[in-house]
Amino acid sequence: MSRFFSSRYTALTPYTPGEQPQGRKYIKLNTNESPFPPSPGVLKAVTEEAQRLQLYSDPESRLLREALATHYALRPEQLLVGNGSDELLNFAFMAFCDENCPAFFPDITYGFYPVYASLNRLPYQEIPLREDLSFCLEDLPDKKGTVFLANPNAPTGLAKTAEEIEQLLQKRRDCVLVVDEAYVDFGAESVLPLIDRYDNLLVIQTFSKSRSMAGARLGFAAGCEALIGDLNTLKYSTNPYNVNRMTAAAGIAALREDAYYQANARTIMENRSYTASALCDLGFFVPESKANFLFARSSRIDGGRLYRKLKERGILVRHFEKPRISDYVRITIGTLDQMKALLHEIKAILKEEEAWNG
Ligand code: PMP
Repeated sequence: MSRFFSSRYTALTPYTPGEQPQGRKYIKLNTNESPFPPSPGVLKAVTEEAQRLQLYSDPESRLLREALATHYALRPEQLLVGNGSDELLNFAFMAFCDENCPAFFPDITYGFYPVYASLNRLPYQEIPLREDLSFCLEDLPDKKGTVFLANPNAPTGLAKTAEEIEQLLQKRRDCVLVVDEAYVDFGAESVLPLIDRYDNLLVIQTFSKSRSMAGARLGFAAGCEALIGDLNTLKYSTNPYNVNRMTAAAGIAALREDAYYQANARTIMENRSYTASALCDLGFFVPESKANFLFARSSRIDGGRLYRKLKERGILVRHFEKPRISDYVRITIGTLDQMKALLHEIKAILKEEEAWNG
């Protein structure tokens, strides 16, 4: 730390992204990316748009918001696009929390939530998940506060139904509920259709997972016009050109080729079932995931050791050195071949452990 660093941030613990190795080639199952490349129309759109890079992008991202509005049966005024959904989540913390309105989120969830709260010096309360890692809506404090809910949750993969979320919206009419649907396309229910009925609902989605665009950085927030207006105030106070030309063009093209991405999501869900049942056969405990990853623990090897042994064998998964979940690894679902390679190595590692333990 330099002696010039603002005292506002000296206590900040930044978010730790998953490893992005540049040297050795790994089977990469650690950051919930898609194993499938973008569709041909996306590649073409990016190439064409690159020829206009001397010009700023449209600060309103009008064409992209229109395409999203058509796709999701919304109005463009109900949408804001961002540099990944991370940027929009940060805006939501800034916009809808303050000293009198803390943030509420589960104790085990997306690791960026406490970072955004701390960065913006906002009070927050972590709500403990139950023993089976489920989140019970009744556990939320009966007081004012903005709720941030990843649905499906990360890293557990467990999802709430749209009906449960609607009950929460009704119960907390005077508080904003931010539903982070980064993984919703892998089998969970979206609450986007509720936006017209609830002025306290903000839904955030990303093109990083089901639409194979993690490297392009594109997310969107959907909510009533007033909520989106608040987020826009922050966007225009931070970075009006937050979505670059190539990414905006790629987003429009991806929506046009939706069938390709839906087929890929189906394949991921099939590979997820295959992997989950194979892991259960090996004695793992695997909560039912509606996301493009599995969260798994074995009584035969602890999470950190399994992570390290897999890495030695060329497979990267994610391990969190955090109370209550350090026994687990989070495994991104890849192609069937990748999943078979993973299971092959896990079997070999478990055999080694047995021999070692006598
Ligand atoms: N929400 C959740 C729950 C996530 O796991 C992630 C990805 N790490 C994000 C949001 C952010 O995704 P992106 O910024 O790539 O859109």
